[in-house]
Amino acid sequence: MRSLTLGRVHDISIKVHPTFGLVVLWVLYRWGVGGSFGSLIFGLVLVAFVFGCVVLHELGHSFMAMHYHIRVHDITLLPVGGVARIEQVPTRPTSEIMIALAGPAVNVAIAVALLPPLLLFAVLSGVNSAGDLLLYLDRISPGGMLVYLFFTNVMLVLFNLLPAFPMDGGRVLRAALSAGFGRERGTRTAVIVGQVLAALLAIVGVWLGDYLLPLVALVVIVVARAEGRAVRLESAMRRLRVGQFALWDMGGISPRQPLTYALRGGPRDLVVTEGTRVVGMLWRNQLLHELRGGIPGRTVGDVMDRHVVTADVDDSVYDVQQQMNELNRWAIPVTEGGIYRGIFTADRFVHVYRQLTPSPFRVRAAAGFAETISYLLRSWIR
Ligand SMILES: [Zn+2]
Repeated sequence: MRSLTLGRVHDISIKVHPTFGLVVLWVLYRWGVGGSFGSLIFGLVLVAFVFGCVVLHELGHSFMAMHYHIRVHDITLLPVGGVARIEQVPTRPTSEIMIALAGPAVNVAIAVALLPPLLLFAVLSGVNSAGDLLLYLDRISPGGMLVYLFFTNVMLVLFNLLPAFPMDGGRVLRAALSAGFGRERGTRTAVIVGQVLAALLAIVGVWLGDYLLPLVALVVIVVARAEGRAVRLESAMRRLRVGQFALWDMGGISPRQPLTYALRGGPRDLVVTEGTRVVGMLWRNQLLHELRGGIPGRTVGDVMDRHVVTADVDDSVYDVQQQMNELNRWAIPVTEGGIYRGIFTADRFVHVYRQLTPSPFRVRAAAGFAETISYLLRSWIR
């Protein structure tokens, strides 16, 4: 199912997932059935504002990430909230804390901005306690909307600051612990804290007869486990040297060889060398493309990619994989002290990955997933 793009803010696409249609159905049911046309419009405007606050929250994370030169792909709205796809989980504790806090900070700012009109509304309608103000949550009026948006932002801050993955508070806790104990142990501790908290949340939910809380607890436990696994995998890959996993080669192909020679053994990514030095890459795609135009008389040197980046045998598998991701390449030549040794490919990476994850349940860490469970908040407020 493809997401619908609403627009772009500073090169970040704002998208809506098809399942968001459920929210519209919910609005129709909640404000449309048995209500007037006016109440339906009220419901639609209210939900648009609530999700507007969620988008601003995600933009808070995104702009802070961009401040640290981390790429942000897009923001997608789901019925459960927003997800910002940020290039990679930041590894420096300070930047991780700043990025995590930037989201809730936006909601604090919105709540503060709503405070003067809210106080004015309270004075004008003779409300003198916060409890009385809550009575306006269900009113279909501009005042009711103001109260609703104020409390939604307060709940977004409180909920997101819970110290459990995938909430922002969990990332803050992890980063703080990482500064003291290192990333792997910090994450392990944060995962345990999050799971204990989730278990308490589930017990409280059952006790109160609110069965949404155990559901939230389940999401927290699953995502926390996935996060723990992802970080364990990452530290294992940081310890492994790429030289151990590269395909060792007896010297690559010369730029003076004819293209037909490069086809022997089937088309694949080839390292082009002169003596012991890497001078280029002959990409499989490029080779196949050139084949269509006919190859008589052409040499490897004519079509090779001269802008080649190499890895050292002592670089970690993690760093090399990150580099390949950034370059958008499937292979990288591996050198030792500048001398060509072999090639590391995406296939080799999959091989390493399989060795490190024997379990069939390879849950990918969904960074920031389900962090703003706004429809749950709505049912709690009521
Ligand atoms: Zn957030």
